[in-house]
Amino acid sequence: MDDRIPGTDAEWRKLLSHEEYRVLREQGTEPAFSGKYWDEKGTGTYRCRGCGSPLFTATAKYDSGTGWPSFYEPVDNDAVGTETDSSLFMTRTEVHCSRCRGHLGHLFPDGPEPTGLRYCVNSCSLDLDQSESRGESNSASRKAGDA
Ligand SMILES: [Zn+2]
Repeated sequence: MDDRIPGTDAEWRKLLSHEEYRVLREQGTEPAFSGKYWDEKGTGTYRCRGCGSPLFTATAKYDSGTGWPSFYEPVDNDAVGTETDSSLFMTRTEVHCSRCRGHLGHLFPDGPEPTGLRYCVNSCSLDLDQSESRGESNSASRKAGDA
């Protein structure tokens, strides 16, 4: 994992594609059914496209029918942060990477058991790491902490 998190806007622009920058740094949303992971069924760990921090496991991914990758829980409660988002004339819960603050998507209370939550995430905020088959993350996310 690359531990270096870009500090400046210019560095982020260099690291990310235009679309990734728009989502991660400007809280954009990719069009439904357009991203590379909404229909992805492979195993592994979904990492933050911005900083490589593990965010979700493929095990917690489910087909929500929305056209965005959806998860019922993050890899660790410390891995993602939430914030109230009142843009677009509605109140939603925004979800971001707690390490680099990159925008991931939104959290809705209509997910499946056991959590009843739906983390609706943009594909371009994620990087599927298939090298670990099941990403239980007891140690990895500890050191990242809340920045
Ligand atoms: Zn991140």
